[in-house]
Amino acid sequence: MYKTIKDLDLDNKKVIIRCDFNVPIQDGKIVDDNRIVQSLQTINYAISKNAKVILMSHLGRIKTEEDLKKNSLEVVAKRLQELLDTKVIFVRQTRGKELEDCIHALQPKEVLLMENTRFEDLNGKKESSNDEGLGKYWASLGDVFVNDAFGTIHREHASNVGISAHLESAIGFLIEKELEELGKLNHPKREFVVLLGGSKVSDKIGVIKNLVTKADKILIGGGMSYTFLKAKGYEIGQSLLDEENISFCKDVLSQYEEKIYLPVDTVVTDNIDEKNIVKNVSIDQIDSDLMGVDIGSKTIEAYSNLVKQAGTVLWNGPLGVYEVDAFAKGTKALLKAVSESSAVSILGGGDIVAAATEFGYKDKVTHASTGGGATLTYLEGVALPGLKNIAEKE
Ligand code: AMP
Repeated sequence: MYKTIKDLDLDNKKVIIRCDFNVPIQDGKIVDDNRIVQSLQTINYAISKNAKVILMSHLGRIKTEEDLKKNSLEVVAKRLQELLDTKVIFVRQTRGKELEDCIHALQPKEVLLMENTRFEDLNGKKESSNDEGLGKYWASLGDVFVNDAFGTIHREHASNVGISAHLESAIGFLIEKELEELGKLNHPKREFVVLLGGSKVSDKIGVIKNLVTKADKILIGGGMSYTFLKAKGYEIGQSLLDEENISFCKDVLSQYEEKIYLPVDTVVTDNIDEKNIVKNVSIDQIDSDLMGVDIGSKTIEAYSNLVKQAGTVLWNGPLGVYEVDAFAKGTKALLKAVSESSAVSILGGGDIVAAATEFGYKDKVTHASTGGGATLTYLEGVALPGLKNIAEKE
C-alpha cells in the first residue's frame, strides 16, 4: 500500500499534482473529457485541504514546433475550470519567470495549470528522458508532490519520477483506485477468465506470459487469434499474422493447451472498407483471399457461456475490428455477456474501454481502467516505474 494524498499535510502548501490530462482533441475541441473528470477527486480534495494547487500534465507527443500549437493544455484549463467551478490560472510556460511569479502569488484553494510538460521534449527530450535538472527544477516549485497520472505510470519521466526524487510524495485517488481494482486480479475469485484480443501478439507477450500462470481460462480473439490459429496449422488467408511470434504461440499452446481457447469460427471479408463479401465461416474454411475480422457466432456463444461461469473476468483488446459496425458483433456480444455476469469484471484499458464507452457498457462493469500502456505493464506483473519514489506504508 503506497502513501496517499491523505497522508500528506497540504494546508497552505504548494502541492504539485501530476494529472493525466492526455485527452483526445479534434479540431481544437476535447472529444472525451473522461481523464479530466477522473482527476477531479484528487484536485478537489487538495482544494478542500487549503492547498495551493499546481497541476502538471502532458498532452500528446511533441516532436516539432507545429506540435506545440496542437498540444497546448489551454483547452484543458478551460474544461477544468467548468468542471471545478473554480478559476484555473493557466500559465503558458513549463519553466521561467512568469511561471515562478504566478506560483509565488498563488493563494490557498487556488488552482494553476502549467503548460504541457512535453513542451520540454522539443529540445533534447528532457521530460521523457527524465532529465535530472528538469525534475529538480519542477520540484523546486512546490512543497509536496502527488502523482495521480495512472496513464503514465509505466514511464519514468521528469514530471513523475524526476519530481518525486526531491519532494515528499504520495499517490492520488485515481492511482489508488486503479491499483486497488487491478490488485483484485492477484487474488481473483475463481474461475478467473481472461479475454484477450487486439491486433498484435507482439504487444501482449508479457501479458500472456504473466496471465497464463494465474488465469483458469484465456479466451483469445481479435487480430492476434490468427497467429495462434496459424501456429495450430490452420490456413488464415489474408488475416493479420505476426510471423515472428508463431513459435511463441506454439510454445504457449503446447504448455497450456487446456487453458487457452481459440475461435472455432470467424467473420471474414474481402475488404474492410468495401465489404463486398462478409460471411461467417468455420475456422478451417478461411479462403486464401479473405481476412478474419471478428469472432464468429459459435465462438460468441462459447465464450459467452464461459464468461457466465466466471468469478473474475479480465478483458484486454477488442475481439474484432470494432470500429466498423459490421465487425463489432463479437466485441458487443461479449461486452453484454460480461456486463450481465455476476463476476468481478475488469476492462484493461485502451481500445476495449473505448469500445465499452461507445457501446454503452462502461458503467456496467466493475472497473474500466483509465490506462492503456500503463495497464498492460501492470498486467505483465512488472514494477511500475512511476511509483519508484513513493514510499510504501504498512
Ligand atoms: P490493441 O491496441 O492491440 O488492443 O488493438 C486494437 C485494434 O485491434 C483495434 O483497432 C481493432 O480494430 C484491431 N483488431 C481487432 N481485431 C482485428 C482483426 N481481426 N484484424 C485486424 N485488426 C483487428
